[in-house]
Order: sequence, then structure tokens, then C-alpha cells
Amino acid sequence: MGDPQNRFAQMVTRLKQEGHRITPQRLAILRILSVSEGHPSAEMIYDQIKKEFPYTSFATVYKTISLAKALGEVLELEFSQGSNRYDGNRPFPHPHLICTRCKTIMDPDLDAVNYLQDEIVKETGFEVTNHRLDFFGICPDCQKTR
Ligand code: ZN
Ligand code: MN
Repeated sequence: MGDPQNRFAQMVTRLKQEGHRITPQRLAILRILSVSEGHPSAEMIYDQIKKEFPYTSFATVYKTISLAKALGEVLELEFSQGSNRYDGNRPFPHPHLICTRCKTIMDPDLDAVNYLQDEIVKETGFEVTNHRLDFFGICPDCQKTR
């Protein structure tokens, strides 16, 4: 996992460079994104932000996420069923483990996908610009309470 403190600093710098206003709410949202514990949805981030800043609107949360996404500082995982989820800790394509019971999303620490991509390029001549690799199942915590 990337160092959340570094990721947070990078995101703040980037937004400032692009001329965006940095508010305390925005900083709090970026901080949550820099850790991306369990890969939160916008709703989950909103629930967390409200504890600290009760008057924050969902639109503020959503706009900040969209802005970070547009700047390439957060990875968006889209789902046809259920909310999109976000990873600002690793804002580049990487495999995910998705628990179908508690909906948590984890990052496995694997290099295998890099080898896989090299092999795909070598075998097919395809120019890979992006990929999406999701593994669905039951997380270790949920297995214990089965
Ligand atoms: Zn689970
Ligand atoms: Mn991730």
C-alpha cells in the first residue's frame, strides 16, 4: 500500500497546482481517500465526514471525489449493482479482492499482474492502457462468522 501521508500530500499539492480551493472539508475528504480503507463509496465518505463537519453536503463530497478522479489522483471502481468505490491510496490499475458478503474491497500485494500484462503485450502485441481485475469471494473476517 502507498504511504497514506505521502498520498495525502500529493493530492493536496495537485489540487493547489490546478488552482482549486482547499477547504477543511476537502482536506478531510482527501485524507479519507489517501487511506482508502476498504475502498469507500461516496456515501461512506459522506457518513464519515459528517461526524467532523455536520453541515457538509453530499454534493461537496461528490465534487471533491470527482475532482481528484479527474486529476488522476483517485481510482474509481464502477459497479452496475451498488455504489462506485474509490481508492486514492493506489490511483492506478491494480487487482482487487471483493467480499460479496460485507462488500469490503482489499488490495492484494501481488506482482503477478505485472507479469501477466507483460505476457499479454508479448503474445498479442496489444497496447495495454488500462485493466480491471476483480476477484469475488468471502473475506477472511466473514469466513470466521459463517
Ligand atoms: Zn467480508
Ligand atoms: Mn485498491
